[in-house]
This record gives sequence, structure tokens and C-alpha cells, in this order.
Amino acid sequence: MSATPPTASQIATAQTNVHMACLRLVHDRLVVGSAGNISEQLTPGWFVVSPGGVLYEDLQPTDYPLVDVSTGTHTGPLPPTSELALHLGIYRHMPTVAAVVHTHSKYAAAFAVARIDLPFVCNENIGPGSEKILVTEYGAPGTSLLGSNAVATFARQPGSRAILLANHGVVALGDTVTKAYTTAAQVEWIAEVTHHAANLRPDLSPVVVLPPDQQDLIGHNYGFAVAREGASSDQEEH
Ligand SMILES: [Zn+2]
Repeated sequence: MSATPPTASQIATAQTNVHMACLRLVHDRLVVGSAGNISEQLTPGWFVVSPGGVLYEDLQPTDYPLVDVSTGTHTGPLPPTSELALHLGIYRHMPTVAAVVHTHSKYAAAFAVARIDLPFVCNENIGPGSEKILVTEYGAPGTSLLGSNAVATFARQPGSRAILLANHGVVALGDTVTKAYTTAAQVEWIAEVTHHAANLRPDLSPVVVLPPDQQDLIGHNYGFAVAREGASSDQEEH
């Protein structure tokens, strides 16, 4: 049974949030054209998501469809992104997630194509307990397999807020669109720095990666908890 529908005001706010973030995707070169997609779960059981196949600059906030998590049905003038199954899968299996940002940013996509889990090399944080940004098994774009692979990969590292879709791009989570967007941008930063560092020191394989105890110290100093093996699998940090 569907949750109580959100109010018109709640829908309008979410549509504006998602639209503004989509405009940033292009401006920040995290996607090209109409690629990528963003959603926000405005009340439990309902999310607003970007439409598919239309340049973001040509959209108005009211063009962004509202989707019922339980049924997958949508309302609005335009159909949802072709990656609707990705967003549905995350909201159905990770109920504490409030926002999803999917990008095709270049350096991160290169790691996704090379199928290399992205290590942490400086002072990044992609969620408590995260030691790497994991690459999923391959699922074709627009399929439910892509969504289920994403959910399975997040489950391998509870607490993580980002993964790489094999041969595709980035998925970042947050409790707001802004936080999920920042994480997606941070993933790209990590990928670019890691790439350049590996080129500077090709003798390293692939680069100097911070060991878990150093990552714990960074987590302590920055005030975020770090949970490792044996930690609870709750996903409140998503
Ligand atoms: Zn994509």
C-alpha cells in the first residue's frame, strides 16, 4: 500500500532541489548533455526524480515527476529517467536514504571501466566503515539488474555513501540532495587525484593507500565514526 502522498508544497520544494542540482551536474561537468539523474525522497514512500532524455536547461521544476516507491508509478508531464529502477531499488532496500545522485564524471568512470575499487588517498570520507569506493558487477543501463547490483554493492560495505557502476559512472547517497551531490563530486576528486598520483609514481601499485588505522584517525579527527568488521549493518548514515 502506498504511503500518504506528499503535499503540493513538499513536491514543489523537492522539484526545485532536484532541478537545481541537475543544473549543477552540467555546470560542474559531472555529466554531458542529459546524462546522469538525481532524486529526492521528500516523504517516506515518495520521491521526485529527473526526467529522461531532456536537457536540464530546458526543464522547469514542475517537469520533474513524482514516483511512488511501492508501485513505481509516476505522475507529472514527463516520464522519469531511464534509470528509474536504480532509484527504486535504493529507496526500497535502503529506506534511510533521502537522496540519490548519479553522475558520469570522467575520472570516476575511468576507474569504473577499469573495474578498480577507488581507494582513499587523502582525507576523504565516503561514509563510516568505508575503506574503498567499490565497483559493482556489470548491469546494462536502464535495467533492474543495474539497480540490484548497486544495492548489493552498498550492502557489501554498510555505511558507504558511494559506489562505482561498472563501465558506467557514480552513485552517491545522502540525507539531502546537497550532501549526496557533494559526495558525488568528492568521488570525482578522489578519482582524479588517484589517477594523477599513479602517473607520478607508476612504480606504486596503484598508489599509496591510507591504511585502515590512518583512516580511523582521520575519522576521529573529523568527528565521524568509523565502524569496521563486525559493526552493525544499520544504514542510518546513508
Ligand atoms: Zn548513467
